Amino acid sequence: MVLQLKDLFDRAGEKQSFEYDLDLSHLRHGAGHPLVKPVHIIGTVENRTGIVTLGYLATFTLNTLCDRCLTPVERDLSMNFEHILVHELAGEDEEEFIVCGDYTLDLDELVAMDILLELPTRILCREDCKGLCPKCGTNLNESTCNCSQEKEVDSRLSVLLTLLDENED
Ligand SMILES: [Zn+2]
Ligand SMILES: [Zn+2]
Repeated sequence: MVLQLKDLFDRAGEKQSFEYDLDLSHLRHGAGHPLVKPVHIIGTVENRTGIVTLGYLATFTLNTLCDRCLTPVERDLSMNFEHILVHELAGEDEEEFIVCGDYTLDLDELVAMDILLELPTRILCREDCKGLCPKCGTNLNESTCNCSQEKEVDSRLSVLLTLLDENED
């Protein structure tokens, strides 16, 4: 969706609302394309005493793999975004403002950028996901393997060794 903002920039108090579904299934994040379903966008652009602000809520489903055990994870997320729109920069830091030189704004592009920047880089299927055994690849949420028992002994041993180390000081 492209917003036409000429009137909005010209008149203080002017307000525009928008609501639509945006297909971002092509969006690449990490190793995959996590936004399989359309992203729902609802928001407003408003001229408050000469300052044009854009605010919107993006609601979407994230389809990805658990960072530890690689099981598919589906998570519903909503994110709020706010930007100040300017017609031209007057020496301000460009990062903070969105410049609409021709009084239009490609909202789709902005939404894609906003979401990409905020997507969590690590998603777990559950808080206490045990992950995969690094030796045999067994999903330790579903079963155990012999290597994991060895690992437990190892970690107990290393605690002992640390204690010994501390006593020596
Ligand atoms: Zn997991
Ligand atoms: Zn194992």
